[in-house]
Amino acid sequence: MKLSNTLTAQLDDPRLFRQHAYVNGKWTHGDGGREETVYDPATGEAIGYIPWLEAHQIREAVDAADAAFAHWRALRADERCERLLAWYDLLQANREDLATIMTLEQGKPLPDARGEVEYGASFVRWFAEEGKRTFGETIPSHIPNAALGTLKEPVGIAALITPWNFPLAMITRKAAAAMAAGCTVVVKPAGETPFSALALAELAERAGIPAGVFNVVLGEPAEVSKILCAEERVKALSFTGSTRVGRLLLEQSASTVKRVSLELGGNAPFIVGPDMDPKEAALAAVAAKFQTAGQDCLAANRILVHESIHDEFVEHFAERMAALTVGNGLESEIDLGPLIHRQAVDKAAAIVDDAISRGATLVAGDQTQAPGENFFMPVLLTGVTPQMKVWREENFAPVAGVTAYRDDDEVIAMANDTEYGLAAYVYTHDIRRIWKLLRALEYGMVSVNSVKMTGPPVPFGGVKQSGLGREGGITGIDEYLETKYYCLGALGSVSGS
Ligand code: NAD
Repeated sequence: MKLSNTLTAQLDDPRLFRQHAYVNGKWTHGDGGREETVYDPATGEAIGYIPWLEAHQIREAVDAADAAFAHWRALRADERCERLLAWYDLLQANREDLATIMTLEQGKPLPDARGEVEYGASFVRWFAEEGKRTFGETIPSHIPNAALGTLKEPVGIAALITPWNFPLAMITRKAAAAMAAGCTVVVKPAGETPFSALALAELAERAGIPAGVFNVVLGEPAEVSKILCAEERVKALSFTGSTRVGRLLLEQSASTVKRVSLELGGNAPFIVGPDMDPKEAALAAVAAKFQTAGQDCLAANRILVHESIHDEFVEHFAERMAALTVGNGLESEIDLGPLIHRQAVDKAAAIVDDAISRGATLVAGDQTQAPGENFFMPVLLTGVTPQMKVWREENFAPVAGVTAYRDDDEVIAMANDTEYGLAAYVYTHDIRRIWKLLRALEYGMVSVNSVKMTGPPVPFGGVKQSGLGREGGITGIDEYLETKYYCLGALGSVSGS
């Protein structure tokens, strides 16, 4: 296996850049010699290589997680907390290197990558503490001379399959919850962004997380996922990614009746009420659309603006959008990095062409200005209708589509006209409108007058085909806990007679 000098040269601690899988506390080659190249999406240059493990090696990772489970679950919650907090400290201490690795493999601007390291680390700290609060219940007994209650126990091994758009935080949001609950994990990161996951493993080891508790496997996605889903010893599957793959994994998990949590695609409406200042709303909409170059499940996908302020809103949006800088995320003052690969650029172009062919107006977005083949210049379309792909599909690109609406009932129907139900944005100061929309929107998360909505205390997740279950918050750890009911009978009467 060749070593990449490009990446290691940019790190204070080159040992964070690992090009092996991590199984049972050991850095592992693929037995079959299969290897994948990982590219910097900004330059198209190879930045490293990863092995593809063979089927028996994936099972060995499950063996390791199985063997480690007995010890890890037996630790006291405060002992697991200490190790997770040590991991948190190391993530913070190595923030700069982790951000560099992320920008090189994912493309997002360095300040955004730093932000993701903070965000990802914050879940480790949150769940380290939450692990100490997995309280059972005492149940008032209906059975004479018996005590009833519940215990919370870790489900067992959790398989965690994650996407490339948030290569670090999507792992920690799952792994920290599972590990705090007493579970051991087998992580399968996206092949485009394995190095953030492997750096997490290196730091977990340094934090004193025992071998077998946190494993990272690499391989052909469908092959690895099939093995993990079919494994009876894997008791929980948590997946973040597209709805298409989520459906597949749900089906594959049926044979072993696993606990399945799914964080899938979004098609967020961004609703602007007639009372809003169009400039204020446009600035917020730009921020909600172009984060991570639009490759964000929370990205404002359909911007629905009241007809009375539509034209002014579009003007301000176009002006702000024109000021966005597009380039290599390692350079300073960059707002949008590249898309993850060329297929994503082609998909974005097809979505724009489809919209124009069906009558949308291209207000801005000149692709001849793109600084490289994986880059896509921000696009603003108006006159978007439900027949267009830009409405129906999650575009996962810097393509903003605006539609005018007449009244609240119409915008509610428009916003709910999708199979997705992850997040929605509402911009208005009218309290009656806020309450009406909040109740009527079929979304797992609704953010009113705020672009930022996520973080550790929040129950993150969607309804409809955006997923199952919630991550983060006080319920996020429940995805990894079983409730065991007990009935202690023949205790004698309360009076002791
Ligand atoms: P994806 O579904 O293509 O891939 C996600 C993971 O599944 C990766 O690890 C990938 O290697 C694996 N995978 C791909 N094909 C597979 C197959 N046939 N069988 C088994 N596993 C397979 O998604 P992506 O392109 O990496 O990520 C983008 C998607 O993720 C978007 O739809 C986005 O909305 C969603 N997402 C959702 C959230 C959320 O919290 N709801 C957060 C981030 C991303």
